[in-house]
Amino acid sequence: RIVYVNGAYVPEEEAKVSVFDRGFLFADGVYEVTSVLEGRLLDFEGHMRRLRRSLAELDMAAPASDEELLEIHRELVRRNGVEEGLVYLQVTRGAADRDFVYPAGVAPTLVMFTQEKQIVESPAAERGIRVISIPDERWGRRDIKTVQLLYPSMGKMMAKAAGADDAWMVEEGFVTEGTSNNAYIVKGGRIITRHLGNEILHGITRAAVLRLAREAQMEVEERPFTIEEAQGADEAFITSATTFVQPVVAIDDVEIGGGRPGPIARRLREIYVEEARRNAV
Ligand code: PLP
Repeated sequence: RIVYVNGAYVPEEEAKVSVFDRGFLFADGVYEVTSVLEGRLLDFEGHMRRLRRSLAELDMAAPASDEELLEIHRELVRRNGVEEGLVYLQVTRGAADRDFVYPAGVAPTLVMFTQEKQIVESPAAERGIRVISIPDERWGRRDIKTVQLLYPSMGKMMAKAAGADDAWMVEEGFVTEGTSNNAYIVKGGRIITRHLGNEILHGITRAAVLRLAREAQMEVEERPFTIEEAQGADEAFITSATTFVQPVVAIDDVEIGGGRPGPIARRLREIYVEEARRNAV
């Protein structure tokens, strides 16, 4: 596989990043994951907009312009022959002597690679996933897409140990989001998902799905909900760049919608995939 590191396309075995990189030592970095379908990029502009915001919030320099980043995404997809999968992009603050305080003018490290993955034909989307609830023990700026993913990783391991697929995190009695996705329920035809704030990542897929739902005359309510409310909902689902829309059929072993994917989640997945394909670059 060919990866990209600071201006060079190299075989993965030859790629090098300093052990003093602050991404490695402090998780001082941000990332984006953009899906690839038929060799083209989905929601690229949205991902770049969020990347700029994450960088600005951490006072980090942008490593390249959007046009240059688009070119690198395309070149990696081309060189690795990716038809379906994803491009991972990570910007870390760069290498400096280990110190909590960083000096001015550190050159950022830009790393990008591709991963092949089947995203449209998905057994999980067909059958629906099972989630458990866990306390949300992440830091308070979840709106910044940092590479600090230890707690979400622990959450997925807890889900796996419990025989489930993923975990929904709960704070002060309300669901924040999934470990790597946004969380939704449907009641009486109305789509309910937590409002934006520092408590959740502002999903690019979330924005697209809510816009498409409103355009299809579906009702959308952006407010917090509890696990109990979710367990009594007609449907539940998640969204993310690499899962699109995926139905949730059980929460803490309580089945939702008779344990089968619901019609609204199914319809939203179809509409989303159709539009994402149409707008791919
Ligand atoms: N929430 C969290 C915590 C995530 O890690 C992700 C994606 O990685 C999302 C939500 C979904 O965001 P997007 O739709 O932009 O992939």
